[in-house]
Amino acid sequence: MSVSTLDKIHSYSQQQGIRLTNTRLAVLSLLAESTRPLSAYQLLEGYQQRYQKSYQPTTVYRVLTFLEQHGLVHKLAATRQYVLCQELGKKHGRCVEFLHCDKCGNLTEVPDMESIYQALQSQTQHLGFTLNQPTLELHGVCARCQV
Ligand SMILES: [Zn+2]
Ligand SMILES: [Zn+2]
Repeated sequence: MSVSTLDKIHSYSQQQGIRLTNTRLAVLSLLAESTRPLSAYQLLEGYQQRYQKSYQPTTVYRVLTFLEQHGLVHKLAATRQYVLCQELGKKHGRCVEFLHCDKCGNLTEVPDMESIYQALQSQTQHLGFTLNQPTLELHGVCARCQV
């Protein structure tokens, strides 16, 4: 990830009227520089290292919740880690999927898996269970690593 990732974030936020405070920007750039998803705790640590400032965990959680609500980051439900949205401005369905390569660790976002959502919903509905918007992480080997 590079500067252009942050450029995209800036122009998207401007379009959407999302205000990027310094703390929000710091969290976004830590995620942009990381090759892996990060937990709130790892972000807190990274932030403290970089800015030599201590931060309340609640602040980081508040920032992450804000960024998630505005579609700038996604939370991987299983590991409680966060990643930047790779498909800013594209249609996001009720189910977002990440393909996780077990060889190189690369994550690829598939933003609209409505058919999967509907299948999950019909399975869980008759059990009286209400589904949240799931973020699924599927493990496998990416195209690049298969050659
Ligand atoms: Zn996304
Ligand atoms: Zn791979």
